Amino acid sequence: MNKLVVMKFGGTSVEDAVAINRTAGIVRGRIEKGLTPIVVVSAMAKVTDQLLAAAAAAGRGDRSGALAITARLRSRHKETATVLLVSEEVKQQTQTVVDHTQIAPPELATLLISIDAEFDGLDEVLRGLAAVGELTPRISDMIVSMGERLSSRMIAEAFSQRGLNGVHVDARKCIITDNQHGKAIPDDAMIEARLKEHVLPHASEGRTVVMGGFIGSYVAPNAVADDKIITTTLGRGGSDFTAALVGGGIDAGAIEIWTDVNGIMTTDPRIVPEALRVKTISFEEAAELAYFGAKVLHPATILPAVKKNIPVLVLNSRNPENEGTRIISLAPHCQSPFKSIAAKRKLTIIDVVASRMLMSHGYLKAIFDVFDKHKCAVDMVSTSEVSVSLTVDSNEKLPDIAADLSKLADVKYEGRKALICLVGENIRGQNGISARVFNAIKHVNVRMISQGASEINMSFMIEEDDVEEAIRSLHAEFFASPDPEIFDVEAVKAAR
Ligand code: ASP
Ligand code: MG
Repeated sequence: MNKLVVMKFGGTSVEDAVAINRTAGIVRGRIEKGLTPIVVVSAMAKVTDQLLAAAAAAGRGDRSGALAITARLRSRHKETATVLLVSEEVKQQTQTVVDHTQIAPPELATLLISIDAEFDGLDEVLRGLAAVGELTPRISDMIVSMGERLSSRMIAEAFSQRGLNGVHVDARKCIITDNQHGKAIPDDAMIEARLKEHVLPHASEGRTVVMGGFIGSYVAPNAVADDKIITTTLGRGGSDFTAALVGGGIDAGAIEIWTDVNGIMTTDPRIVPEALRVKTISFEEAAELAYFGAKVLHPATILPAVKKNIPVLVLNSRNPENEGTRIISLAPHCQSPFKSIAAKRKLTIIDVVASRMLMSHGYLKAIFDVFDKHKCAVDMVSTSEVSVSLTVDSNEKLPDIAADLSKLADVKYEGRKALICLVGENIRGQNGISARVFNAIKHVNVRMISQGASEINMSFMIEEDDVEEAIRSLHAEFFASPDPEIFDVEAVKAAR
């Protein structure tokens, strides 16, 4: 059996000392089961946003605004480190945080010194930035990487103090990427080699490696030493991606994504309180759902794990006993056609009526070139002989896009639309499913329909105001007698 398990903890799972203690308990549980965890952590909750805000303020020349943010971040990290590393005994003997640092373990002093040194360095960069007034993507990555660099060091130290043999590995040594700052592309082969060098030796000696998610580095072609390493990031929410890269790179037995929900649900429980936890789902289904707004995990997480057939588990750190959702490459057969229903709001439909271009080739290309020019992603497309309807995220570029399109054809656009997406492998080759879907929502005005492309998703566009009503009706139609192999029917029974 493969004992390596990658455990990723998101920002809320490491937001303060209480959360980090809970995380330590969960990791201990895995060690006690004979597993060897490799832990990937996010920055403490909201830190990434605040670092970006500090960088933006400095970029605008607002020096004091930027420094005020980092001053708060500095004390938050130092306080958390202190609460984590001062033993209960010392806490009882002393009154205040300041008091007990005096008699705290040397590890705390070292950690506090390095937190101060990091923030001193950061403040220097921000002052320079405020003077120059230009924030480059490269500097932004360097600034924002602080969140994960600090959280991972602090948590490694807390783990070693709690008998978990924690050891910090700088993720930038392992997650090698290209130089597209803000959304760098990882280099799988280099990552695998670096993990063998920097992570596996610790794991085989029973140490618990802790590394930051989201961050990586670009090695300039002429680099000779480590100091030529340039910090990069994998894109917002990228810690899940790191976990999958690490899992793939070391051939882990499983990847656990610890968040604050019980896994993937049949739909948003705020809309349908009887929504069920999906126990098992396929990689493809989960990727569709992630794309369509189920915020449980980053769609790109899927890829490195799929390639190596490694199961991904979505688990709740506030409810660790819950089994979560297991994402595997081939989903077992399910009696109901769908696993989950998702919605994506704030969309706009653009109708392009091109009667002048009737029968001429190349007009779809001309239309898509406009979207490409404005770097605007299209969600759904539907065409007839003379018209094309497309949906995009509502954004401020729409008037410009419409102006360009109107050079080709007549254009109309309408906002406040939403896409409803039903996902399930078992719709392949089943008759009568569309009839059931549209019968369930016959009172709702459907604007565009798409089915086919992936064969596991059926989606359609409706008015934003109809989303809740449509989801409730569809959920009632398709999850009235859920398959107990796939859905957690026990939880619902218990709640009744
Ligand atoms: N801290 C990063 C973010 O907030 C990465 C992550 O948490 O996944 O986007
Ligand atoms: Mg996240």
